Amino acid sequence: MSKIDVHKLTKIFGPSPKKGLELLNQSKSKDEILTETGMTVGVNQASFSVEEGEIFVIMGLSGSGKSTLIRLLNRLIDPTFGQVWIDDEDITQATNEQLIETRRKKLGMVFQRFGLFPFRTVLANVAYGLEIQGMDKSEREEKALQAIEDVGLKGYEKSYPDQLSGGMQQRVGLARALANETDILLMDEAFSALDPLIRQEMQDELLQLQSKWNKTVVFITHDLDEALKLGDRIAIMKDGTIVQIGTAEQILESPANDYVSRFVEDVD
Ligand code: ADP
Ligand code: MG
Repeated sequence: MSKIDVHKLTKIFGPSPKKGLELLNQSKSKDEILTETGMTVGVNQASFSVEEGEIFVIMGLSGSGKSTLIRLLNRLIDPTFGQVWIDDEDITQATNEQLIETRRKKLGMVFQRFGLFPFRTVLANVAYGLEIQGMDKSEREEKALQAIEDVGLKGYEKSYPDQLSGGMQQRVGLARALANETDILLMDEAFSALDPLIRQEMQDELLQLQSKWNKTVVFITHDLDEALKLGDRIAIMKDGTIVQIGTAEQILESPANDYVSRFVEDVD
């Protein structure tokens, strides 16, 4: 199993991010930096650890930096500053080859828009990652079929994505991530596009799968109820900054500031 350690991770979008970093170090706010330089602070000096087997939720409003943060975790984008340790490797320093290897072994990702290939069957979609790893056909189909069964889609192996509902397509996305047997699952608003009932079903399913597969999960949502239900711990983001990290109980009972309190007031 894998853990993640993040140290002062910072991403500034714009022509001279180092200048933005200087301003952050002078305690300028995201808004001040935007006004003075036109640059956007995506993530501001985020530090946290995700323990082995934990569901770590990152919660915040739209634009608060969640997607930027999760994309830094598998280095889909490069940080302006800071480190991301996956076990004992700092992936911000990894070569391309090391990165490909680490992603393949350790980092699975599930997106909001399901990212399925329309002209491949469910089975071929789920087995895709294994195919590009060079696993032989019978072995990859066996793994893929198991994952398809685990997400409740047995019988749909030969269907195509557009024959399935949104919820079912998201199960295919999840099955694909599970079949790859990566230690870590990164899920960016994976359930946000789903109808409320299907969404609840998927949440329950994730919790069940989590106890069976024992993955380390980083789960992004803008929905506090979803965060409280799923998260072993929850990080709350505002304007690129993590303003509190805690269990659901800690966040409900001792919000770190007014911003968090106002969020929590709406929960019953
Ligand atoms: P969230 O996922 O919480 O909605 P994002 O991480 O997508 O937030 O965005 C955080 C901030 O960074 C926003 O202000 C957004 O406009 C900005 N941003 C994200 N990606 C880029 C980019 N490629 N170029 C410039 N600004 C970006
Ligand atoms: Mg986002």
